[in-house]
Amino acid sequence: MKSPQFAFLESSLSLGRLSHAYLFSGTERELKDHATVQFLQLLLSDACGSCRTCLQIASFQHPDLALVEPLEGEGKMRITIDQVRELKYRLSLASYGGGHKVALLKRADLMASDAQSSLLKLLEEPLGQTVCILSVDHSDLLLDTIRSRTQEIQFRARKDRTADSLKHGSLRARFKQAKELGEGEKEAQEEALFALASEARSRLLAASLHGTPEEMRRAGILAVLGLKAEEAFVLGRGSLRLALEQAYMEL
Ligand SMILES: [Zn+2]
Repeated sequence: MKSPQFAFLESSLSLGRLSHAYLFSGTERELKDHATVQFLQLLLSDACGSCRTCLQIASFQHPDLALVEPLEGEGKMRITIDQVRELKYRLSLASYGGGHKVALLKRADLMASDAQSSLLKLLEEPLGQTVCILSVDHSDLLLDTIRSRTQEIQFRARKDRTADSLKHGSLRARFKQAKELGEGEKEAQEEALFALASEARSRLLAASLHGTPEEMRRAGILAVLGLKAEEAFVLGRGSLRLALEQAYMEL
């Protein structure tokens, strides 16, 4: 089965918009691990999931795949700087299949800080067709500089994501989140937009009771909502006028 996360990665590849580094984050491990293997099979094989190469990849045995996992040392599990150096060396070699070379760092949050700095150099200057996948439960355990150089793909239960996108930040920030949910998450996006539209209506109601006439003109309304015209357009399902009419009808 295709998860929305995998569907997004698949379309990124087909559109030629693959990132050099991905951060797979979240505690939905089964979903995350499954999408990881599917993505590796897509990059290094034919993604059928059942041929010899795909099966090799599923057990992380492929000459163009470098797997890095934490090692035990001094009573702690750690990814060390030596492991990152060896990874960089492996990625610098020519690709066996002539295509992508992929690094998978499992539990990347267990990278020692010198290892993270060493990895950062690789993310800053990616080599050819290399793709780095950092897999973590919680992305906030990584250096900000690493996070900012990766594209984060979240693996969290949908209800958590939707709840988050509805609760935090300004209307605009949440609208942006709702738009991003759209990459394969139509239903959650609908829910989020509906909730945002209701909140927008209550803000307009408050403004109409207490605001000035200027605020109730078009530009004022957008300001009250803290939205740009384009965003109100989408809230109104394709029409700014419809968005405003809907809002007025509810007042
Ligand atoms: Zn296959």
